[in-house]
Amino acid sequence: MAPTKDPNTLSNHLEFSTAHTAISLTLSFSKSSLYGEVELTLKALADGLKQVVLDTSFLDVRAVAVNGKGAKWNVGNRVEPYGSPLKVDLEKAVNSQDEVIVKVTWDTTDKCTALQWMTPEQTSGKRHPYMFSQCQAIHARSLYPCQDTPSIKSTFDFSIRSPLPVCASGLPTGVHHFVPATSPSEPGTLAYTFRQPIPMPSYLMAIASGDIANAAVGPRSLVYAGPEELLRCKRELEDDVETFIKTAESLIYAYEWTTYNVLILPPSFPYGGMENPCITFATPTIISGDKSNVDVIAHELAHSWSGNLVSNASWEHFWLNEGWTTYIERRIQGKVHGDKHFHFSAIIGWKAFKESVELFGADHEFTKLVIDLRGKDPDDAFSSIPYEKGFNFLYYLDRLVGRERWDAFIPHYFSTYRRKSLTSFDFKDTLLSFFSKDSEASAALAKVDWDTWFYKPGLPEKPDFDTTLADACYALAESWQALNSSNSSFKPSPSDISGWTSGQIVVFLERITDFSTPLRKDLVELMRDEYGFLKSENAEILSRFLTVGLKAKDEKLYGKTAEVLGGWGRMKFVRPLYRLLNECDRELALKTFAKNKDFYHPICRGVVMKDLGIN
Ligand SMILES: [Zn+2]
Repeated sequence: MAPTKDPNTLSNHLEFSTAHTAISLTLSFSKSSLYGEVELTLKALADGLKQVVLDTSFLDVRAVAVNGKGAKWNVGNRVEPYGSPLKVDLEKAVNSQDEVIVKVTWDTTDKCTALQWMTPEQTSGKRHPYMFSQCQAIHARSLYPCQDTPSIKSTFDFSIRSPLPVCASGLPTGVHHFVPATSPSEPGTLAYTFRQPIPMPSYLMAIASGDIANAAVGPRSLVYAGPEELLRCKRELEDDVETFIKTAESLIYAYEWTTYNVLILPPSFPYGGMENPCITFATPTIISGDKSNVDVIAHELAHSWSGNLVSNASWEHFWLNEGWTTYIERRIQGKVHGDKHFHFSAIIGWKAFKESVELFGADHEFTKLVIDLRGKDPDDAFSSIPYEKGFNFLYYLDRLVGRERWDAFIPHYFSTYRRKSLTSFDFKDTLLSFFSKDSEASAALAKVDWDTWFYKPGLPEKPDFDTTLADACYALAESWQALNSSNSSFKPSPSDISGWTSGQIVVFLERITDFSTPLRKDLVELMRDEYGFLKSENAEILSRFLTVGLKAKDEKLYGKTAEVLGGWGRMKFVRPLYRLLNECDRELALKTFAKNKDFYHPICRGVVMKDLGIN
């Protein structure tokens, strides 16, 4: 593996590599900031090196020491969107394999993009404040100085002092009375310690603190949530988590991270889930009361192999994380619920894929599998494309060599890059060399047009998915379409959808939004009354129904849209609804955003502002 320059870091990661990170943090809820000390053990990768450059973003750096002695350092000018390089001079040059210990102390600032601090009123319990981090893609640098690139992996020791319970992306090693050292003291707080013995990239560094309790949901799994939600979350996840782990193990190899826990965050969490090692951070929108959204957990769990153990070397190869994870997630669903569900999920994914391509434009750089991120912010490229184009590429290779051969390649790939980071080119080499002695598979692989798959923008050819589960959804949508053009005797009734999975309802509603003519307003209301979608507690269903209503320009649903936009912070739901509301009633969209902007996570707030064209 040739080391590749990651264009989204200012650190000199080709000259030094972090081997270990010992981080100590003191949380101040009253100031919405944290004070930190980090010791980075850096290994030199070349001779005659005289400077270490670390990533920082909006950090207030206090002091820097090298090997225990105060060092000469400066924070360079800010380079958008990458932050400010922290340059640390070494007293004498070091050579390849030498170790340097760089210690930095700092405070985070109110411009920190990795942390969300919530007031008690913003939590469901309303009694205690809450904070959580989200470092992917390049926000770790606004939490602590580091080599903020997924090409560098280090082991971690955490010590986090907080007045409230703490979770972190490591194995808990205890709770200690805090011994005040140099940091300002807040009496009565404890230090929570964790260790992560498996090397992980900076973007997987994660912490959360608040009124958090936990309950077992499997032999190696706990769910963490607010005390009010805990039992509901436990019921939702019980049994399934261990089934998912065992199924993934049968596809790849044994789970390496010891425990697999899930933290259910407050509603403003911007993603479905974040695969932080040992503890997935998840949106409360997965807790729907009927286990219909637990697939998100299968996805985050799959990241324990694809992404966390085997990582993309830069965000330009993000499909290696997300495409593989989506593929493994669907294989888990296929094994647990039957092969039809693999296809059904792929059909839902294709729809999201197509919409993302349309949104960017079919020629856009970010619709490629391997993208050019030089000078760009990886958050701007975030969409379902790396997930779905990546999935479709892997599914294409799976069909090309045949399932049996492909299933032998999966553990080989994950063993080859275990605890490492790789690029798309490493993937290609490994695939071709694995099958080089198999003449039939090699002949099949010779047909792969790698350049087209890697660099051609837009949609690839759509595979023939098994539409068994989707057919009923399509048929019902056809009936509504006929009704919409007034030449039908179709009489909708609740029995049309009785026994359907929430996924089937989603496919039905998405089919409706695909019609070239929006549904008539009176039909939107008929659907609301007969199917009860407006009362659904399942965000997947409610958000799709509101989409149908907004496309129909049904003013009666504008208010409800504004209301849910104040209750959800998951970008998957928030962004499309804001875009539609903006087309229907810009004034209301802006008013809704102004009212809720502090509720949203900084990442979500930033992209919605771009979507609405406001600064
Ligand atoms: Zn993912």
